[in-house]
Amino acid sequence: MERAEGRTCGRATRSGSPCKVRLHGADLACSRHASEQDRTLAEAYQRGWNEGFQAASRSSEGLQNMRAERLERRVADLERQLDEASRYYEYGGDQVVEVGRYAYRWPGLGRLEVGDRVLLPENWISQMKHGPGPVEGVVTKLGATYRGELSVIIGRAPGAG
Ligand SMILES: [Zn+2]
Repeated sequence: MERAEGRTCGRATRSGSPCKVRLHGADLACSRHASEQDRTLAEAYQRGWNEGFQAASRSSEGLQNMRAERLERRVADLERQLDEASRYYEYGGDQVVEVGRYAYRWPGLGRLEVGDRVLLPENWISQMKHGPGPVEGVVTKLGATYRGELSVIIGRAPGAG
């Protein structure tokens, strides 16, 4: 999940371009676009962290460890809920998938599935490592939570079903 500073809301606006309002903390969307559920999840997530910080500052180590474990589970659960709540599967009519850490849109025919091999546009890292031309990748997850510009998948990798 994208947690870096400089996250933007990314919800579709009336003009069709993603909303550019900056997000803070665990916010899922800007105040204009956040749904009731978005707010509840973001607050719960924030609470989880605050309790974690409080527990860490208490003295009893056993109790602290117990609490830490419980909070870790709770935060993991909330992260999963946040991921589910903010995961979207389509953008501008294209299917959206993740290939490793990055999100892409797929304008081609048919639906992509996890495990499908695809050709991705070259980037400066792939250029440095393998020279110019598309890079092969494997679809790791359907949908994405990243809300910035999406690169486009060029096609299915040759020989892929
Ligand atoms: Zn917004």
